[in-house]
Amino acid sequence: MNGFKLEMHLHTLGNSRCAKVSADRAAKIYADAGYDGVVVTNHWNRNIAENYFADSSDKINEYLKGYYAMKATGIHTLFGVELALREDFYSPLNRRGAEILVYGITAEEFREYGESLYRNSYDGLRRLANDRGWLLYQAHPFRERSKRVPPEFLDGVEVYNGNPRHINANAIAAIYAEKHRLKPSAGSDFHQAGDVKSGICFRDKITDEKALAAALSSDAFRIFKNIKKLKQVSEKAISET
Ligand SMILES: [Zn+2]
Ligand SMILES: [Zn+2]
Repeated sequence: MNGFKLEMHLHTLGNSRCAKVSADRAAKIYADAGYDGVVVTNHWNRNIAENYFADSSDKINEYLKGYYAMKATGIHTLFGVELALREDFYSPLNRRGAEILVYGITAEEFREYGESLYRNSYDGLRRLANDRGWLLYQAHPFRERSKRVPPEFLDGVEVYNGNPRHINANAIAAIYAEKHRLKPSAGSDFHQAGDVKSGICFRDKITDEKALAAALSSDAFRIFKNIKKLKQVSEKAISET
C-alpha cells in the first residue's frame, strides 16, 4: 500500500483504565505493522480529570505524558484528543455517552484550553474548532450506549472503529455519514496489544496536526481495515502478551 499510513485512534497506558499498552510497546507494534505514524487520542473528560487523575496536581501535564512518551519512541507522532463534553463521558453510571475525536489540535493548544475544553457545549466546541481549524469527528457513533452528537456540530464520524470489545455497528455509521454528508474517518481505537486494525492512508506525508486537518478535508486518502498484515501483527502481539 503506497502512501502515508496513520493510526487515527490510539490510547496509551496511564491515561485511562481502559488503556493497557505503554507507548514503547505500541510504537514497536505499529512499526511492525508498517504504519508511518500514529495520532495519540487519549480520553479527556471530567471523569478522567477528576477521578483518574484525582491525585495529580498537574492534570494537563499528566494527560500529555502519553503523547510525549510516544514521540520519544521515535515513531512519527501527532497529537489528538478523544473528548467527551460535560456529562457525555462513558462510565458505568452513565447510560449514554458520546466522544468526539479532535484532529488538528496541537499539544500547545491543548495546554492553552485544558479543562475548559470538556466544559464546552457542542456549540461552544464547534465555534472553537472553527476558530482554531480543528476538525470534530464523533467516535464510534453507533456503539452500544452511544448517543448521537447532532451532525451540525461535527465535521465527520468514524465509519470504522476497530475496537474488538464493543459492538460498533460500523456499517450503520457508514450509512449515517453519507446521509448527513459527514466526512469519514477510521481507526483501531487501540487499547490492547492485539488491537491494530485500521487507519487512513494519505497520499502525502502528514507532517503535523495542521497538515492532518488539511488532508482530512481533501479527498487525498483512503481508509484501510482488517488487512492480512494487521491480523498477523495483532496475533503476534497477543502471543507475546
Ligand atoms: Zn478507552
Ligand atoms: Zn477511543
